[in-house]
Amino acid sequence: MRDVTIIGSGPAGLTAALYSARANLRPLVIEGLEAGGQLMLTTAVENFPGFADGIMGPDLMAAMRAQAERFGAEIVRGHVSAVDVSVRPFRITMGDETIETKTLIIATGASAKLLGLPSERKLMGHGVSTCATCDGFFFRGKPIAVVGGGDSALEEATFLTRFASRVTIVHRRDTLRASKIMQDKAMANAKITFEWNSDVVEVVDVDAGAVSGLVIRNNVTGVQKTLPVEGVFVAIGHTPNTSLFKGQLDMDETGYLKTHDGSRTSVEGVFACGDVQDHVYRQAITAAGSGCMASLDAERYLAAQE
Ligand code: NAP
Repeated sequence: MRDVTIIGSGPAGLTAALYSARANLRPLVIEGLEAGGQLMLTTAVENFPGFADGIMGPDLMAAMRAQAERFGAEIVRGHVSAVDVSVRPFRITMGDETIETKTLIIATGASAKLLGLPSERKLMGHGVSTCATCDGFFFRGKPIAVVGGGDSALEEATFLTRFASRVTIVHRRDTLRASKIMQDKAMANAKITFEWNSDVVEVVDVDAGAVSGLVIRNNVTGVQKTLPVEGVFVAIGHTPNTSLFKGQLDMDETGYLKTHDGSRTSVEGVFACGDVQDHVYRQAITAAGSGCMASLDAERYLAAQE
């Protein structure tokens, strides 16, 4: 029987692990298939306080992991196939194993939707990004493209005009999904242009290991061309990793877990932190902060039970 089990090993999960371990709760962390979370897909992180010269995303995650382990967090590799929070203790199924836990901290994150192109995956962190706030700074004075037509794409494009010389929004239809106010803002921005009815064919140049262009194809005319850009921001939405909890915990209409009074979910003893419950801020530092909150909330819940 565990006091605290944490599912997920991004900044939220590992911060929850650090705090729970230091509270002598011997947390178990199930790291999941994408161990380390979204920072494993980035290169330099320059906005995490405490690293004046920046730190590589994977190095930051390795440091967080080592710090949690130093205080006794047990981190296991594995994929959770089922969770039952209708019974007490809660039950977590991982392969043939069933784990029983008094509290559960959900830190399963959200995954940025990707176009699914091999070149996109290979150049991720080398000119391809899913986070303008994190990576915009690296594109000072450079032409870039943003893929998508929703609020995220337009917000990121508008933000990126602070750095980029030119921003081209590539959208697969001829009307935007984004709210009118975001549309008006983007259209009034002299640095932003649009490529309508356009599908992304390929990001170049994988051989050079850096982005030098984006091949797009007009899905009405069939005409293909290459945009000379040095960065590509994919902003086609995020998917919260909440399928394990459907029907068990309250979620909003897009599948993000609802939390109240800090990190509490709709089931007592189950807490959520990081991107799985936050579609607004989505930063490593806010995820880490909410991981701390979830651990303190779990600790107080356990103390109240005793
Ligand atoms: P979204 O509203 O789902 O928009 C995703 C966009 O990406 C759509 O334009 C979609 O095209 C396109 N897309 C999806 N899959 C694609 C693919 N495989 N290839 C090419 N294009 C693809 O997602 P979001 O923009 O991330 O917004 C999510 C939610 O957060 C929304 O409710 C939004 O209003 C909210 N949000 C609000 C703000 C704000 O108010 N400041 C900022 C960001 C997000 P189609 O249009 O053709 O489907």
